[in-house]
Amino acid sequence: MKKFAVIGYPISHSKSPALHEAGFNELSIDAEFSAIEVKPEDLASWISLNMIDYAGVAVTIPHKEKMVELVQKLSPAAKVIGAVNTLFWEHEVLHGTNTDCVGVLRALQTEVPELEGKKVLLLGAGGAARAALFALQTAGAKTVVWNRTAEKAVTLAEEFHAEAAESLTALNPDKFDIVINSTAVGLKEWKSLLPEDFWTPHHVAFDMVYDPLETRFLSEAAEAGARTVTGDQMLVHQALEQFHLWHDMELEPEVMGNAFFLADE
Ligand code: NAP
Repeated sequence: MKKFAVIGYPISHSKSPALHEAGFNELSIDAEFSAIEVKPEDLASWISLNMIDYAGVAVTIPHKEKMVELVQKLSPAAKVIGAVNTLFWEHEVLHGTNTDCVGVLRALQTEVPELEGKKVLLLGAGGAARAALFALQTAGAKTVVWNRTAEKAVTLAEEFHAEAAESLTALNPDKFDIVINSTAVGLKEWKSLLPEDFWTPHHVAFDMVYDPLETRFLSEAAEAGARTVTGDQMLVHQALEQFHLWHDMELEPEVMGNAFFLADE
């Protein structure tokens, strides 16, 4: 039986086992998927002692950035993003890649199939924002980045040939087709960084937060007639890309989509 796992700290919240096990059941794959708590100080030794037992490992907070130094081969996406969320073996060489960027792209494409030339406002400049910027840049979208800590938005925008915005209130909402929340605002709280009157029916709103799925950001956008993309779409699509890498098999998105909801029950 092949072994897979997700490693992080803490790890109890992870939906990765439920999503991947749903895929194993659907396609009758003889494999197991565990969630393993690995403290930051133990990461390097865990990889050198245990990785050999696993066909693939998903990497989550807070290990994604550190993992860049611990793999033998880095994909171009992981290199540019500066974070690894997926490990796999190829000819006994440990590869690290990043599927969060694929998750962002496919999630957005559920509402906007063609992103080329679209104008995007990206809130946040953390790890998830880096994956989003890489995806948006690759797809030919034009992005303006805003972040609470303004210097981080400026640095990120320079790196990805995007623009940085200093003040949210100075922005003209009509200049944007898509607005993405990649901050932690809205996570287990009823808050949005944007005022209610920002939204118009022209907008597509995408919130990466998935606890809760219906955030204030998305709720106010929908109220104004905007289309919305929920955070589970990104999570499911990044996991589907991992599944494809590890098993070389295609899985219907609904299989993991349903598992996302069942994992809460
Ligand atoms: P991160 O690297 O820690 O970055 C956090 C970001 O949130 C920073 O830009 C930070 O701004 C901002 N922020 C935090 N509290 C804020 C506040 N009160 N007001 C304004 N900005 C605030 O985290 P991350 O990995 O990028 O994750 C960010 C969010 O995306 C989390 O909610 C996470 O759950 C979600 N996420 C979802 C998926 C998915 O698959 N759906 C995947 C990855 C992440 P400063 O720089 O000013 O601190």
